[in-house]
Amino acid sequence: MENFRADLHCHSTCSDGTLTPKEIIQLAAEKGLKGLSITDHDTVDAYPDAFEMAASYGVKLIAGVEFSASLSDVSVHILGYGFDLKNTALQGLCRWHAQRRKARNRAIIDKLVGAGYDLCESDLGEGGAIGRPHIALALMKKGYVKSVKEAFHKLIGDGKPYFVHGERIGVAETLRVIHDAKGVAVIAHPHLIRYKKVWKRLLGMDFEGIEAYYSLMSRDQVTPWIERAEARGWFVTGGSDFHGDVKPDIPLGVSWTPEAVFNALYERQHYRAPHVANGEKGDSL
Ligand code: AMP
Ligand code: FE
Ligand code: FE
Ligand code: ZN
Repeated sequence: MENFRADLHCHSTCSDGTLTPKEIIQLAAEKGLKGLSITDHDTVDAYPDAFEMAASYGVKLIAGVEFSASLSDVSVHILGYGFDLKNTALQGLCRWHAQRRKARNRAIIDKLVGAGYDLCESDLGEGGAIGRPHIALALMKKGYVKSVKEAFHKLIGDGKPYFVHGERIGVAETLRVIHDAKGVAVIAHPHLIRYKKVWKRLLGMDFEGIEAYYSLMSRDQVTPWIERAEARGWFVTGGSDFHGDVKPDIPLGVSWTPEAVFNALYERQHYRAPHVANGEKGDSL
């Protein structure tokens, strides 16, 4: 089908997006998207409830997550799809990330408070995947900066005065967890990883795909990533990285996954929502 579009990368209020999972699914249906995955940073809190909602809107949903990982101190975001939500390793990794984020947010706030900023943890809201975007929003609400972008640029972006690394987890370990949960692992927004040495290692690792179609990238920008994926027999996926109002210039569905790839991921995913997959029975979660 020519107009098939499936956005496999977006963030809800379960991490740093501004729309709830339900609102994202509604928006996806309004935009005519046939498939979707909500890929919150380091949490799967949107699931399994989102499956029921997606079924009622006629949107095919694949369970998803965007794990933060690192390789040689370089940040690598890994998209996981179609995993078993009940898998203990997966649940454990999400819990570990929640603790990591808590400690790191505290350290960033301490640094800011030490420099005279009036900010505390309760300004960030609640949830498992609170991070720098929430700190940026709090700084904006208090009038210290005009935008989230400015907060990253001047204060808390990588290498800026109030940036704190926090604990890290490796790519190999993250891949092990995704695979233990029977999921598929995809390298997110590959153009953001700029080190050749890191790429050499990543391309030899146990991934199943590269997110070549991302946000508003041009054909020239995506072609090398398609070639690298195809040379390895990996999936070529796509998604917008929609975050709602915190990134107002990125609309949902602006980038998408080809139908054949979506179907392959959808068919092999562990969870099947009732009603959506032609009368197949829902998996017992
Ligand atoms: P964290 O996971 O807490 O380190 O926050 C990283 C997230 O912050 C990314 O996934 C983006 O959503 C967001 N982010 C990173 N850099 C910027 C930036 N320069 N402007 C706005 N948002 C950003
Ligand atoms: Fe984000
Ligand atoms: Fe990312
Ligand atoms: Zn993302």
